[in-house]
Amino acid sequence: MPAYEYECRDCKKVFTVFLSLKEYDANPKIKCPHCNSDSTARQISGFFAKTSKKS
Ligand SMILES: [Zn+2]
Repeated sequence: MPAYEYECRDCKKVFTVFLSLKEYDANPKIKCPHCNSDSTARQISGFFAKTSKKS
């Protein structure tokens, strides 16, 4: 199952969500597990980059 990284716009934390392609296609509202906000944005960079640095 693909993993997607989201960043919460409220608490600025990044978290990983596992969604099937079908679920992802439905464009679900992802809630932040830290503060329960649904003001989240997907992080596109990093997922496909094998040489991404972790800081
Ligand atoms: Zn949050």
